[in-house]
Amino acid sequence: MIMSEKSKQHVDSCRFCWMCHHICPIGNATGQERNTARARALGISLVNREAIDLSEIMDNIYECCTCGACVHDCITGWDPVMFTKETRLQAALEDKLPDYINKLVDNCLETGNAYGKAAMCSDLTEAIARHGKKTDTLLFLGSDARYMMCKQAKGAIEVLERAGVDFSVLSDEPDSGAALDFLIGAADETKEQMKKCAGALDGYKTVVVYDPNDAKAIKQLYPEYGVQTKAKVVTYTTYLAELIKSGALKVKNTGKAVVYQDPYQLSRDLGETEEPRTVISALAELSEFHLNREETVFAGNILMAQYMPKVMELVAKRRIFNAEAVGAKAIVTSSVSEYASLKAVAEDGFGIYSIEDLILG
Ligand code: SF4
Ligand code: SF4
Repeated sequence: MIMSEKSKQHVDSCRFCWMCHHICPIGNATGQERNTARARALGISLVNREAIDLSEIMDNIYECCTCGACVHDCITGWDPVMFTKETRLQAALEDKLPDYINKLVDNCLETGNAYGKAAMCSDLTEAIARHGKKTDTLLFLGSDARYMMCKQAKGAIEVLERAGVDFSVLSDEPDSGAALDFLIGAADETKEQMKKCAGALDGYKTVVVYDPNDAKAIKQLYPEYGVQTKAKVVTYTTYLAELIKSGALKVKNTGKAVVYQDPYQLSRDLGETEEPRTVISALAELSEFHLNREETVFAGNILMAQYMPKVMELVAKRRIFNAEAVGAKAIVTSSVSEYASLKAVAEDGFGIYSIEDLILG
């Protein structure tokens, strides 16, 4: 398999160590050694040595959620996310993607979202239509919220309305490219989609990005891939923290006892840990998971649930178990995807809230 020298070095250096074995959310959920970073490296190494074919490891390659917990914990500095994404790209180039991944890629290219959806729900369409006028500030909702979590997307709009912000929402918002990046890495198609999205953001002074997954793509991956946007890009959580601080957004403490689920894209990738806590502390009584901030544990996502739903359920259940272990009865998350995953498995009596849920009541 064609692979960069850097990735080859990481693959060959990684596979004999156990130091990140215990923090892999997928490995912990399935209990299978094959899901850990070192097992994945071993598989790629066998392909590089031509002992097995690339197609034989592709299911395993797509079992990684690219959360970067292993990267964060690896004291020797090896990067399993890098070589996993490079393997996905190479499989796409060699036409060796599993059918279930090809279908998602085709959806991204044909419909602009991985789910193949052609329309949003009517409530959200109406809410977006209220903000069709061009202003200086764009709220970027993202494909997961628009097509899979309509109520959350509508809530994000209503919170900014409550704060009196004059903002726009695009009825024909392009995909950020985050899904394609997850599926096939830094392929030409991914970069093209990102360039198209960057072009749509350029006419705005400020772009507020609702979904942490899109925020990571736009703030971290676009510069890495040479895609530029002139707009100032801020996460939704940072924007809310500023609105509360300035007094524009008036909120009431609900008195609910909660823990905050840091999305890894915000905490590990973008270094944003305190802004969401500023917001949630104004809305609820905040305590912490044992593993929080940069140490956070992935709680599931909508995209992977399309092809491994049972594992996503197990992942989300484990995170609820982590919350219960510190005596919490509710989790607040700022991630569209983690909200969907946690909500799908939470039992009666355990609360799953988005920040908008707490603000809007
Ligand atoms: S990524 Fe680092 S900690 Fe994890 S198995 Fe490889 S060498 Fe060990
Ligand atoms: S990136 Fe996350 S899911 Fe993938 S091997 Fe590392 S810890 Fe496991």
